[in-house]
Amino acid sequence: MTVEIDNQSGFCFGVVTAIRKAEEELQKGGTLYCLGDIVHNGQEVERLSGLGLVTINHEQFGQLPRGARVLIRAHGEPPQTYITAEQREVEIVDASCPVVRNLQKKIRDTYRQHKDAQIVIFGKPGHAEVIGLQGQTENKAIVVEGAEDIKKIDFSRDIYLFSQTTKSVEEFESLVESIRTQLQSEGNKVNFEWHDTICGQVRNRVRHIREFAAGHDKVIFVGGRNSSNGKVLYQHCISVNPDTVFIESAAELTNEYIASCKGMNIGICGATSTPLWLMEEVREKIVNS
Ligand code: SF4
Repeated sequence: MTVEIDNQSGFCFGVVTAIRKAEEELQKGGTLYCLGDIVHNGQEVERLSGLGLVTINHEQFGQLPRGARVLIRAHGEPPQTYITAEQREVEIVDASCPVVRNLQKKIRDTYRQHKDAQIVIFGKPGHAEVIGLQGQTENKAIVVEGAEDIKKIDFSRDIYLFSQTTKSVEEFESLVESIRTQLQSEGNKVNFEWHDTICGQVRNRVRHIREFAAGHDKVIFVGGRNSSNGKVLYQHCISVNPDTVFIESAAELTNEYIASCKGMNIGICGATSTPLWLMEEVREKIVNS
C-alpha cells in the first residue's frame, strides 16, 4: 500500500496569512476576537481557540467594548463592519485576502460608475465573501448560484457579472453562456460584461487535483463540510475517480474502509481550507492501523 498526500492541497496563501496574523496577535497577549470562523475548518478553528482566539458573530461584534481587537478573516467584510468598528472604537486587525480586497474594489468601482446597471455576483448566497462583495454595492448586487437563478436578472438593463473567488470556472462559463443566450433570445442590445474573478490559487488546483485523483486507486478528500471550495474540489475528484470519500477528520475513517485500502495506491487531498496536519493525521491512521 502507498499513501500520498497531495503537495498542492491545503491552505492557500490568503488563509496562511490570516492564520499567521492571528498567531502573531495572540502572542502579544490579551483577547483577540475573530469575526466568524477564521477558516472553514472546525479542527483548525479549535486549534486556534486553544491559543486564545475567540470567534464571535456580527451581533456580538456590535456589542464589543471599546478597545477590543477583532481580526477580519481572509473572506473580507462589507463596509458596514468597518463603520461599526470606528463608531465603537474597536481595533481592526485586517487579514482580508488581497485578492478578495481587489475584487471588492473592482465591484465597488463598477457599481459607482454604472449606477443604472445590474451587478451580478456568481456565488453562494449568505457566504461571508459574497456578503462582503454585496456590501460594495449597498447590497444591490444580485447573487446567482447557477443558470436556474438567471430569472432574477432584468435582461433589459446592462449587466456586469463577477464571480466569488472560489467558484468553479466551468460553472462560471456556463452561466455566461446562459445569460448570452437569454439576451439573444430577447433581442436586447444591452451591455453585458463578465469578469472571471476566480482566484488563481483555486483555478490551478482544479486541474492539478483532477490529475492527482485520477492517478490513485482510492482518494480521501479531507475538508470542512461548510467549505464551498471543498465542495467544488471534491466534485472534481469524484468525477474522475468514483472511489473518492469526503471526510472532515481521521476519526471518520472506519476499520472496514481502512481494511479496503490494503494493497492500494491511496491519495489524500483537501480544500484550500484544509490544514496539512489534518491530512497527515489521516495518513498516520491508515498507515498505523
Ligand atoms: S482562495 Fe484565493 S482569494 Fe480566497 S483566500 Fe485563498 S488566496 Fe485569497
